[in-house]
Order: sequence, then structure tokens, then C-alpha cells
Amino acid sequence: MFHVKHLFAKDGRANIMTKKLLMGNEAFAHAALEAGVRVVAGYPGTPSSELIETVAKLHAAGAARGVHVEWSTNEKAALELLAGASYTGARCLFTCKQVGLNVASDALMSLNYVGVKGGMVLFVADDPGPISSQTEQDTRRFASFAKLPVFDPSTPDEGFAMMQAAFDLSERYHTPVIVRPTTRINHASTFFDIADTTDARPVPEEGFERDPKWVIFPRRAYQAHGEINERLRDIACDFAHEPALAAFNPMIEGGEGLAPQANVSRETGAVHGGASDRHPNVSRETFDDEKNQQISELQDVSGATAVARSPRLGIVAGGVSAAYVREALRMVEAHAAEEDLVVPAYRFWRVGTPYPFPEETAAQFAEGLEQILVLEELDHVLEDELLAFAGRTHATFDVRGKLTGDARDRGENDVDDIASRIALFFGFNSQTDVSRETSAFAPVENLPVRPPVLCAGCPHRGSFYAVKCALGKTPAVLCGDIGCYTLGNAMPLDAVDTCLCMGAGITMAQGFAVAESHKKALAFVGDSTFFASGLTGIVNAVYNGHDITVCVLDNATTAMTGSQPHPGTGVTLMGPRRTPVSIERVLEAVGFECIVHANPLDLEASTSAAREAIEFAGPSAILFESPCIQLVKPGAPATVNADTCTGCKKCITEIGCPAIGFDADARGPKSKERGQAYVDSSLCNGCGLCTQVCPFDALGVPSEGGSHA
Ligand code: SF4
Ligand code: SF4
Repeated sequence: MFHVKHLFAKDGRANIMTKKLLMGNEAFAHAALEAGVRVVAGYPGTPSSELIETVAKLHAAGAARGVHVEWSTNEKAALELLAGASYTGARCLFTCKQVGLNVASDALMSLNYVGVKGGMVLFVADDPGPISSQTEQDTRRFASFAKLPVFDPSTPDEGFAMMQAAFDLSERYHTPVIVRPTTRINHASTFFDIADTTDARPVPEEGFERDPKWVIFPRRAYQAHGEINERLRDIACDFAHEPALAAFNPMIEGGEGLAPQANVSRETGAVHGGASDRHPNVSRETFDDEKNQQISELQDVSGATAVARSPRLGIVAGGVSAAYVREALRMVEAHAAEEDLVVPAYRFWRVGTPYPFPEETAAQFAEGLEQILVLEELDHVLEDELLAFAGRTHATFDVRGKLTGDARDRGENDVDDIASRIALFFGFNSQTDVSRETSAFAPVENLPVRPPVLCAGCPHRGSFYAVKCALGKTPAVLCGDIGCYTLGNAMPLDAVDTCLCMGAGITMAQGFAVAESHKKALAFVGDSTFFASGLTGIVNAVYNGHDITVCVLDNATTAMTGSQPHPGTGVTLMGPRRTPVSIERVLEAVGFECIVHANPLDLEASTSAAREAIEFAGPSAILFESPCIQLVKPGAPATVNADTCTGCKKCITEIGCPAIGFDADARGPKSKERGQAYVDSSLCNGCGLCTQVCPFDALGVPSEGGSHA
């Protein structure tokens, strides 16, 4: 906390504003609360999850008054709940990661046709890389597919402003609006002035008003489609002209054309005179004082061009790539100054509202340009828009980007790569090295590779191992799902043959059972995923009589995304604990006739339970029940008895626990020259699984202390 100031709301109440260092997702939460959001719902998914957690924390602390916040069963449930709330006039916020929007899409496509009343913002976090996702899908594409406006922030603080603008836009046009940050925006931190307390905007007095428009019918859908098309044209116009929205699509000019007499305003960044005057929205903006210094140097080295030249080169960027471009331009210009190179005049357009594409701003940007370089992550969305624009207007500029091999066609961008591409675009030698040279940015060589792995003590390890022991040599297909347990595919467990999407394992196993009936078909599903997307699959298994075994890995949390609660825990974000929804009772009610329980840390009992379920003809289930280690106090670590360890390595080659290593130099009466296993006590949580795997009783855990002892 750095300083406190008081602002006064319209009702005269003082809002205390505090400057705080916030992660992007925390800031988005504050932005929505300050915009008066009343209902917040979503499903956890990296990199989006912290937004709802922040709202829940503020609500629990009494700082977010009047808000309802929840983790819904899945994204579709969340969006449908919010649709109802929005029809009353409440401001609503939906959150998910990019693939979560697929789950909600059935509701979303219709919702855009029906329309909303209270502002409806969809916070959908994209994951270039992907770092923690199964696809690199681009929500900007989804926005154009669904015909929804989308904001694409380049920094967390721009995202803060966009969140508030999105609520206003949603209400003005009665359309859901997407705010689409990417991982680096979600997880970057910066300082914000935020209100210490917020009040949800009240639902209007009239509330929900019955109207035929709330009921979607084909005839109404036809009319609504026309209305959508019309409002998209209007919104594109707003994105180009309405100051508060056009501010998200700024342009700057730089490079050779800087006139020495230009009047550079360091406060506003605007430069008056020269080519900029032809374009009221184009400013010869300076980045900061450092940039001004660089400009002076450039003017010196370029011979202080007397008349500003109109740019022939343009750069377009969106999202975090736009922030990278700004930094890369500094690097390129600094490098040019050092090397006596002349930076050609250029125009840079940052596109914060990619859909509907603000064509009038594009026309202004493209005036006089011959080459345009497009830098964006994930899909070539802006590149396509510019190509379409060029086609429609018979423009002659070339568009370069992902489609031409001038930009990365997948994964994340970074400043060094963008700087190199801009240097090439400016005509500098392809050998020009403009990468950051300071040690703070220098890549560290020879870092050890750390593949993702189940935690030491993770109960899923025991579940997978028990199933493999029960199967023995029986041919089987093991269908995995989305969660920590996808890591069961790693060696030596090697227990996940497929992974498609949330809940798919249960239904895919049924496909294998039909097509390869000589094999056993098993599905692994986590407790949260079971509720999110597994229910339709288990009903299908009973309805169509598929011979599958569903292994529910119930660790009492949504572990992979940060230990969020789910219906099986009974914990809600609003405080009161509900009766947990029982997976066993759901399975019974649906018609599963073989349901067995197992503690995955008891190898013999779980293997026997797995055998019983696998041998059952028809849908069966094993409920592996043991909490995620993030929820329990660790027990005393296991130890290796040097007198009995033979160095056989079975504890390593069978279960692959990261807490067990092998010391080739260790010697003992049984291991002789082979070396011996050792336990890293800083990682081991004393789960005891390894002690049941060792055939020589050389591993043990103290019987006292710790929850697993
Ligand atoms: S976080 Fe929990 S569920 Fe995930 S790997 Fe670690 S112990 Fe297992
Ligand atoms: S601890 Fe047991 S399983 Fe591991 S190497 Fe020693 S004898 Fe083999």
C-alpha cells in the first residue's frame, strides 16, 4: 500500500482509493466490481482462475458488497445462470479459459441472438504456448464466429479500462461482450488505484420484464440476426470514432520523418506538425523521456531531416504483442543510433478492439503505406482483416505476418523476436542483432529440463498403479481426461492412452468398448471433471449398456487450477457450506451396478477393488478417494534401510515418484556395487506407496506424525 486518496461517488459517499500492486486477474476483478458487477460465475481454468478468487476474497472481507460469486458446475452452467441474472438488469461477469468457451458456446450463440439487459462481459483468457491448455484456439476468432465484440488488452491497466468499457458497450447494444487477455496479461503485475470497497449496481426496479424477445424461435432468430449485423456495423464505427473506445486503437509515427522543428509535448506524447497533422488520430507519440532522448539521437544521426516524411511502412499489433512492439521499437531505434543506421519513417497501430474490425481506423492507418507487418499471437486475425480490407478497397499495400512467414505462426511472441523482425522489416541487415544484451534479459543456458510430473505423494499415482497391477497383461485402453491426472501418461506409470477434452474419457472409453470389445476400456476422471462434463457420459454408458470401468480420482478439490471447490466438496464461494453432492449416489441413481471404493495409498486393497470393477460385465466404477497433498499436512518422510536395499530400482521404475532418487555410489550388504535408492526428504510427504512397492521391505515411513502415517 503506497498512498490513499478519497474520491466521492455520486451518492456522496467517500470511496477510498488505494494504490496496490495487483496481478492482472486481480485487477480485472476490481475493474468489474468498480463497474458495479452483481453476479460473477465461471469455471476454473488457467490462466483465468484468480479473477473469481479475488472477487470471492473481497466479498468474504465485506469489501465487495452486494455481489454474488460462484464456481459453477461448468462454463455452460455459469453462462446460463448469468443470462438469467442479466435479463433482470444485473451486471454479470463470466470467466473461463479459452477452451471453456467451447463448453459455454451453445448458450452463448443463442444468447447473442436473444440479447442481454444488464451488462454481460465474458472474461475469456487465451493461453498462447499453450502453457496449460490442450489447444491454442484464439478467442478473437470465436468472437467473430459468434458475432460478439471483443476487447484485446495489451497491458493489465489497459485491460482494467477495457473491462469497464465492455460493461457499458454491452448495455448500450444489449450484446454480450468479450474481454480476452492472454496469459502474460493475466499474470503480469502492476500498480493500480483501486476502490477499497464497491457496491454492486442494484437491479433496476422493474427487474425482469416479460417480452417475446426472451424466447428464441426461428422467426425471431432471423430478425435478431439482422439486428446483430446492424449493431456490429455501429460498434465498428464506435471503435473508430468514439473517443473512449477509439483510445484503445491508438497510432503513433516514428523513425526518419521526425522534423527537427517538431513540437514534442512530453506530457501528452503528441507531436504537432509534420505528417501527423494529416491524421487527427495519429500522434507522433513519444514513449517516455528515454524515447525522447533516442529521438534526439536519431535526429542527429539522420542529419535532422528538415521535412517529415510520410511513412511507407506500417506495423500493426494486438494484445500483449503490441506492448512487445513498443519495447522492440525502442530497441531497434537505440540500435540504429549506435550503428549510424536510419530508421525509416513508420506508423504503428495498436488494435485493442479487433472485432468488429474498425475499418475506418484501418483506412486512416493504411494511408500512404506500402508494407504492413502484423504481429499478434495465436491466429492471423488482424492479418486477415487487413487483407480483406485491402481487397475491398483495392489497396496496394502488402501485408506480412504469419501467413507470409514474417511472424511466428504459433506460440508466444517475445520482445527479442519481434525486434529482430522489425529490424528486418526496416531493411536492416538480417544479421542485425537487436536483442537485449543486459544480463537481466540474457537467456540462461543449460537449464535442467523439468517435465511436469505428479507431485511426490500424489494419490493419483497409487490409483494408476493399482489399475495397472489389476490389469496385468489384460489388453486395455486407458482413457484419460483433463486435470493433474493427465500426467499419468508419463513414464513409468504410462497409464493414459488418450486425452481429448473435459469429460471425454468416459465417453471415449465407450467408443473403444464398442470398436475393440476384446480389450478392457477404462476411463480416469477427476472429481471436479466428473461433475463438470462427465455426467452425460455416465448416463450414456448405462443407457447403451457399455462395458466400461470409470475410475473416479476423487481428491476432494480441483487441483490443477489451484484447489478450487466443486459440487462434491459442498464448499461455496458465498460462505455457507452445502451438502456435498455424492458421486457414489449419482452413479447409483444413474444405474451403475458395480461401484467399489478404494484408498489409492493402500496398494493391495485398491488393486483388489480395481480387479473387481474391471471384471464386472457392464458399466462399473472405482472411487479412488484420497485428498490432494495440497490439502493435507505432510507426514514424516520415508527412509531407505541401507542394510536391506538391494538397489533393484523397482521403487523408481514402477511408480516414478519424484522424491525417490538413486545414488550409484551408495553401498550396502545387499546392494553391493549396484548403488541404492534414496528419499529426498524435502519432497516426500510420507504417503507410503513406495513402501508397498519395494519387494525387500527396504523402504519405511515412521508410524507417527503426518496424516498418512
Ligand atoms: S496438486 Fe494434488 S492432484 Fe495435482 S499432482 Fe499434486 S498431489 Fe496430485
Ligand atoms: S528401496 Fe526397495 S525397491 Fe527401491 S531400490 Fe531399494 S530394494 Fe529396490
